Amino acid sequence: MKEKIYTIPVNEAFDAGGECPFCNMYRRLETESVEYMLGPAYMEDDIRMDTNKKGFCPHHYSEMYKQQNRLGLALMLHTHMQTVGKELASLISERKPAKKSLFAKHGRENDPIAAYLDTVGSTCYICDRIAHTFERYIDTFFYMWAKMPEIKDKVKSSNGFCLKHFSMLITEGEKKLSSAEYEDLMNIILPLEQENIKRITDEVEHFTDKFDYRHKDEPWGNSRDSVERGILKTASEFVGD
Ligand SMILES: [Zn+2]
Ligand SMILES: [Zn+2]
Repeated sequence: MKEKIYTIPVNEAFDAGGECPFCNMYRRLETESVEYMLGPAYMEDDIRMDTNKKGFCPHHYSEMYKQQNRLGLALMLHTHMQTVGKELASLISERKPAKKSLFAKHGRENDPIAAYLDTVGSTCYICDRIAHTFERYIDTFFYMWAKMPEIKDKVKSSNGFCLKHFSMLITEGEKKLSSAEYEDLMNIILPLEQENIKRITDEVEHFTDKFDYRHKDEPWGNSRDSVERGILKTASEFVGD
């Protein structure tokens, strides 16, 4: 079973704690991918052909910008921009004058220049690279759910999931598990998630209360980093680290 090779990262992501084990898995892949891009990858011809074509999403440009390899980033950016420039030049040279009635009927999506810009603006080499492995991790989680009872204990003692990955568990679980296994999953994660949304909501509330002079001497409890954790819970984004 090829899923078995991925049980270690799945277990480690649950053991790391936090507001969402799947975000932990994603974050680790992302960190590895950003380091890989600016390390051995950007001088590889086949990889560069792909990065030239796709470029990167805003989030991954930002992540690469934080790394200490501005030359590597500049080299990839340069040849990607060259590719965009060439592609645009060819689309512009082939452009036919718009026929008003046709344009109104079919809308902007039929304009090849706009279509290319939409595509190149939404593709990311790093997102694609992560997606493949992340899907295997998700398959592994469901494989473990069906075959390895320890994972159920890890889920039960977790802090639940971010909203995006909570939704993913509901929709993918239905496709990938038997009815009994799926109901077992739902019976565990639905109350777990409700409890944990309540917990983090209360922690953020306590954070806001600390700004009120009447509460200023109360202990912080778990609230000090509750804004960062609340953002991860609702928007799957690691901020402040
Ligand atoms: Zn998540
Ligand atoms: Zn990306």
